[in-house]
Amino acid sequence: MSTSEPDKIAENPATAGPWRRRVRHWLDSFARVVLPPRCLLCTRPGTGGRDLCLACHQDLPFNRSACARCGIPLPTPAKACGACLKRLPPFDVTHAVFRYGAPVDSLLMRHKFHGDLAAGRVLGELFADELSTLSGSVDTLLPVPLHPKRLGERGYNQSLELARPLARRSGLPLLVDGLRRQNATTPQTGLDRKARQQNLRGAFAWKGGRPPPGRIALIDDTMTTGSTVAECTRMLKRAGAEHVEVWVLARVPPPGQR
Ligand SMILES: [Zn+2]
Ligand SMILES: [Zn+2]
Repeated sequence: MSTSEPDKIAENPATAGPWRRRVRHWLDSFARVVLPPRCLLCTRPGTGGRDLCLACHQDLPFNRSACARCGIPLPTPAKACGACLKRLPPFDVTHAVFRYGAPVDSLLMRHKFHGDLAAGRVLGELFADELSTLSGSVDTLLPVPLHPKRLGERGYNQSLELARPLARRSGLPLLVDGLRRQNATTPQTGLDRKARQQNLRGAFAWKGGRPPPGRIALIDDTMTTGSTVAECTRMLKRAGAEHVEVWVLARVPPPGQR
């Protein structure tokens, strides 16, 4: 979903140019020094130096019980869900920190489309909390790339923003320009799985010069049908990667479970 909702991009203050973004960053850093942390969800004092309180943290929709292969929420954890048994996805493992829903959806929107740096920071910290302990299973973090045109519009890549704190915490290297998005693709929102696959065909290419690392964690903010990460995985495996895991912030449950 990194490429979705382009109609909202026009509202994003981050699209107003690098100068305004710099001021926003500067004001944010200043506020962090002079103001105590405050929960972004309920405005009570934050805990552990974060803009999130303990009660709101405990209420977050963690995706603890899920399909190990595709990350969809399940009543009990399983190695593969019915859909995965029917058709194995190209990626080997999925770790989705949250089920997509309140309040994670609004924090994501605040960061992605309204330039809310505090929301992005809290999400990045939660992402690193949950996933930094898994660093032994991969060699590299690879954020799902945005097309340069979209990157120019938005000003930053959401997946890269999530991957940065995780890279710092885990010590894993970040690979940012091996996988390229070569066409801008129409937004995926509203498309079913088949239409998404067609839309993404040929969207990514490996341009790393040499083969990619053997074990890769693909990083993305949201996973809906998994078409985007599946297409990335196909390209990476075709180029020589052996093991690809998908590490996402939020997994959208299938329509019957929302
Ligand atoms: Zn709170
Ligand atoms: Zn599954």
